[in-house]
Order: sequence, then C-alpha cells, then structure tokens
Amino acid sequence: MNEPLFWQRLRQYRDVERSAFLCERWQLRNSLRSAERLYDFIRMEASQALADDFAASLAHNPMQVRLTPYVLALIDWQNAASDPLRRQFIPLASEYVPDHPALALDSLSEHRDSPVPGVVHRYPGKALLLATRSCPVYCRFCTRSYLVGGDTAAVTKAHEVATPNRWQQALTYIRDTPAIEDVVVSGGDAYNLPARHLWPLLEALLNIKHVRRVRVASKALAVLPCALLDECGWSSALIAAQQLAREQRKQFSLQTHFNHAREITWITRLAADALFDRGIRVRNQTVLLRGVNDEPQGLGALLEALVAINVEPYYVYLHDLVPGSETLRTPLSTAIRLEEALRGRTSGYEFPRFVVDLPGGGGKRHVCSFRHYDPGLGVSLFRAPAIDPERRYYHFDPLPAQASHPAALSRLIEAFDNAHPQALAR
Ligand code: SF4
Repeated sequence: MNEPLFWQRLRQYRDVERSAFLCERWQLRNSLRSAERLYDFIRMEASQALADDFAASLAHNPMQVRLTPYVLALIDWQNAASDPLRRQFIPLASEYVPDHPALALDSLSEHRDSPVPGVVHRYPGKALLLATRSCPVYCRFCTRSYLVGGDTAAVTKAHEVATPNRWQQALTYIRDTPAIEDVVVSGGDAYNLPARHLWPLLEALLNIKHVRRVRVASKALAVLPCALLDECGWSSALIAAQQLAREQRKQFSLQTHFNHAREITWITRLAADALFDRGIRVRNQTVLLRGVNDEPQGLGALLEALVAINVEPYYVYLHDLVPGSETLRTPLSTAIRLEEALRGRTSGYEFPRFVVDLPGGGGKRHVCSFRHYDPGLGVSLFRAPAIDPERRYYHFDPLPAQASHPAALSRLIEAFDNAHPQALAR
C-alpha cells in the first residue's frame, strides 16, 4: 500500500488529513471498539449483506472487536468478502466451520505451566511474562483467546495476568530462577503498557544478572505503526531498554506479527526505519492462515517485504486450535509444502522456521519433525523429550468438510494408533 493517502479511498476517511492519520491519539480515539460500530462501518464501506453476515458470526467469536483506522484502511472494501485482510480481522457467519473436537480453550496448556500469575515457564531457559490482557487490535484467531480482551458471547476469559501491582511476584520468580536467561514480555500486546509502566519493567528484567535476553512482543508495528514514529511516546521505553541492554552486553529485541504483504505500507517503512536507526532488532512471527497467506506467492511476497524493511522473518506458525476460527486453520501438509516451495529463495538467515506449537504444551517443533504423519486421518505424532520424554503429543489437521473418519477425538487418536503402531514404539 504505497499510495500517499491510501485511507482516503474509504468513504469514512475521505477527509482525514495525513497529520491526523499519522497521529497515534487520533488512531486510538477513532478505533472501533464494539460490534455495533463495526457493523455500521461495514454497512457504509461494503454492503448491508456483509454487515449482516458479520453480525451473525458474533455467537462464535472468541474475541472482542477492536480495530484501528489504520487496519480498516488496509482492507479492500470493494472486494471485502474475499479480501485476505478482511478475512484476518473480521469473521463472517457464512465462513464458519465448527471447532475441531480436539479444541481446548487454553490449547497450549499455558495455565498448567504457570508457576505464578502472569508467568509461563515451559522451557527451562525461557519465561513468558503476560503483562497485560489487552491489545490495540483484537485478532479473531488469537492463541491466547482464553485470556486476552473482555468476555464475548462465546468465551469467558481467564483473569490471571501480571498486572503492574503483581509484577513483583513475577519478577521475584524470575529473579529466584537462575535458569531463566530469556524473557518475553507479552500479553496481550506490550503496546498497551504505557511507557511509564513498560520501561521500569524492562529495566528490572535487564538488571537481573542471569537474564541475558529480553524481548518485547507487540503487533503495534503492523497495526499502529505511527506509534513508533514518536520517540517520546511508547517507543521511548524500547529505546531506553535497547541502550541499557547494550551497556550490559545483553540482547534486547522487538517481536512483531505481520501475516500479509499488504500490511506493510510506507508508514510501516518509516516506523521500521526508526527502530533500525535506534539499533532495535525486530523479528516477525507469522501465523499461517487459510485464504490469507497459505500460497507460496503470497507468503513469499510477505517474507521479501519484511526483509526489505529490516524485519527478520523468524517463525511461521501453524494456526493453533482457537474457538470460532477453524476456517482459518491449514493442515500440517500445507506448512511443509510452503517451506519446500520457498526455501532457497533467500539467504538462510532470512528464512523463517516453520513450526507447530503442540497442543497440550509440547512447545514449538519444526513441522517436519513429526514421528509420524497420516495426512488422510489428519493426525500427526510428535515427541518433545526436553519437556516430557514419556508423553506423545498429537497434532490435528482441520477435519475435511465431509469427514469420513471418526470425528470424536478419542476415536481419531485410536484410529491413528491402530494404523501406525510402529510410530508409537519410537
Ligand atoms: S495482538 Fe497478539 S495477543 Fe493481541 S489479539 Fe492479536 S494475536 Fe492476540
């Protein structure tokens, strides 16, 4: 999206000047925060029928509505029904696919690996600090839909998060656990922590001797890039943390989340340049989404666009089991095919790791590291010896539209185990 005033294509932003559109406060003030407002927006930019289709999807949606004008302006409203960016952010009842029987609300079992509220400690050397439950936008396919945002008709949220007055407990745990070298400050989105909260948290983490690497997870670069253009605003905390990390010979970086090349605009480029100029390393995590980025051409274009703005393509994740978003999941075979098609087009260090985050808490595994994969049943078996050497971790492809095999979870696993006894022995 390189037109200088691309947002003016929309009826509702026709008169919005560049200075307003690039103003963080204007973006936040004009973000859509309710289904009713989004319904009206769709009716005006697309059609009554599409607005009704969206309204009918609400019973299944695990996430509240929150979208910035920036994201809304990226959607092709003339072709909204098929537009990949609409599909990423706005569900439609006509696209609904029932949840897979393996679905659990906290499908990665983060709660089980949480020794104190707001800390997920699964890998010995790494901790995830869930420092907020909110985000500048809500993605319909959020892995942490069990926690992030407010309750919806479909999901009542967990409320255990390290809020500022609970951070002491989280910091004490990290201080008392010398094995933790790597901390990711996430949530929710770390953008929703104002700089006056984020900076002391990052400073405290960097001042723990055994913490060698601190990463901040935020989608702001993708959904609100103007927030990174003002060095006195939110990014002042990142800049200060980068300086402190450098003085301490530690690593500090930002982790972000782009899924489609059209999310990268001239505003993104300015924001990415501002981070690059300050020496802040940025890595990207993409979620593989059916109808959004599951073809080599589209995903390849995204990877090239990221490298061009000095953002490292770090992970491509298979979509996790998330309520109400089965229509976006792809089979394991899609990830394997994409990696095969794209590997070799660029330098190895610029090529992402294609991974699956195993249901049940097995952690991230390379998509080709299964012990066995039965694409017909849509079941794969993985092991994660560093986490639990005894346990089998199963991953499940989406069920075919007319499932001819057992749809109940126990019968699906039984069918796999009976068909592949040799895989169980390994
Ligand atoms: S920004 Fe991240 S945490 Fe927030 S809703 Fe999207 S995926 Fe979930």
